[in-house]
Amino acid sequence: MNLKINILTIAGLFLALPLISWGKGDNKRPNIIFMMSDDHAMNAISAYGGRLKKVAPTPHIDRLANEGMKMNNVLCTNAICTPSRAVIMSGQYSHMNGVFTLVDDYNPDADNMAKILQRNGYTTAIVGKWHLHKEPKGFDYYNVLPGQGKYHNPLFKEKGEVWIDSKKGGKRYSGYCTDVTADIALEWLKEKRDKSKPFFLMLHQKAPHGLWEYADRHKDYLKDEFIPEPESLYNDKQHGPLHQAKHGSSISRRNSNSMLKRASSPKWPTGKIDTTGLSNQQKTSLAYQKYLKDYLRCVKAVDENVGRVLDYLDDNDLAENTIVIYTSDQGQFLGEHDYYDKRWMYEESLHMPFLIRYPKGIKAKSTNDDICINADFAPSLLDYAGVATPNWMQGQSFKPVLEGNTPANWRKSMYYRYWMHMSSHLNPAHYGVRTDRYKLIFFHGLPLGKKGAKKQEIKPYWEFYDLKKDQQEMKNQYENPKYADVIADLKEELIRLKKQYKDTDEAYPELVKVKEQYWK
Ligand code: CA
Repeated sequence: MNLKINILTIAGLFLALPLISWGKGDNKRPNIIFMMSDDHAMNAISAYGGRLKKVAPTPHIDRLANEGMKMNNVLCTNAICTPSRAVIMSGQYSHMNGVFTLVDDYNPDADNMAKILQRNGYTTAIVGKWHLHKEPKGFDYYNVLPGQGKYHNPLFKEKGEVWIDSKKGGKRYSGYCTDVTADIALEWLKEKRDKSKPFFLMLHQKAPHGLWEYADRHKDYLKDEFIPEPESLYNDKQHGPLHQAKHGSSISRRNSNSMLKRASSPKWPTGKIDTTGLSNQQKTSLAYQKYLKDYLRCVKAVDENVGRVLDYLDDNDLAENTIVIYTSDQGQFLGEHDYYDKRWMYEESLHMPFLIRYPKGIKAKSTNDDICINADFAPSLLDYAGVATPNWMQGQSFKPVLEGNTPANWRKSMYYRYWMHMSSHLNPAHYGVRTDRYKLIFFHGLPLGKKGAKKQEIKPYWEFYDLKKDQQEMKNQYENPKYADVIADLKEELIRLKKQYKDTDEAYPELVKVKEQYWK
């Protein structure tokens, strides 16, 4: 009898130890559901307002804003799929985690947010899009898409089976990918997780990434609607990113992701549009309507499945103690500046939607405008789990921001860098700084030997926007003498940030040379 008590006591102490060492003294650490979609623009979430709010609302995602916080300035440090995901897992910028472009592998041996949560007592899982090529590490359970994955009857690679890198391998599931991803995640929550531990679930939807294929049940959604157009849809030669006379021949190449180009694309999996006899403006308009309807139908299924997850939490008394996040790996152009895709440092791709609900610690219907970055996600979630930010992470916990107590020394500017020079969508490599009001971008135009970057060099140039006066970045004011002092200050700030994040350019002599000539 005594022996039994002793064993139970010792076992009890052993179980309690990790909690004591975190200094929390309770077993109520929050569960975390990190829902992330692929290429979901803020403009396509009704909680953020915008022109699509009425025509294509997202009521389930909006619940997180109504019951939690809507963050308005969460910015992506390298606005493209694989690199952003590596930043999120590592809490580090691309040049530190090694994933500069879509082609780089994320090192499975590197420490990451999931590994840290796992060894600090969380049960961990990732379901859906992983897109970091090598086997996911730090997860008690995973079931992920090979590469981009397929919208219909997708393949999934499940933990326990032999892993094959990248796009290969997997077992077929019947159904629509967005539904199947949520099914698998819900099955893990209901039946597979270790219920003695708090959980960390990354639920990553492939949708609404192109090429856009919607669920059969949504084929008539928006059928008879006119999708409101952005102001800058037809202004491709008048201003903004497309009006850079000094780059000469690169202009037409930078137009490669225009709606007009899209109009003639054979790659519409839901049926090609007939543009016979139409003017260029009519073609642009038609391609825009087609793109947005396909895209918003994909979003519709994402929203419905967010609803299923929230219902599960409600029905199982888990809503109170679970942090629920909805975000996207970066933004997306929905016809603004006549673009689709992302990659640019412009507002539409730079901004990540970020809605977070945690009834115990975040006020309902709250909003925040502080500048946060995707490298902050890992430190913030670790903070909620009672784990200090490792010194190798570069982000900062925004838990105090979410609690309405933004520290006085919170960042006033952010550093951005895109590396995949002139790849499929022909965006020149660039870096820049954004403050609450201004944005300065240096397009250095060099491939710098990065995998997936094209060797073609582009004449360097600068862009500068006053976001207070020109929120849509319609007019590059870099040459406007009125802003000379502001621009000089921003250049100093850019240098300071590059030092802070250890991304100075000495390793690239060709870039140092370009800066000598163009960093006037
Ligand atoms: Ca993406």
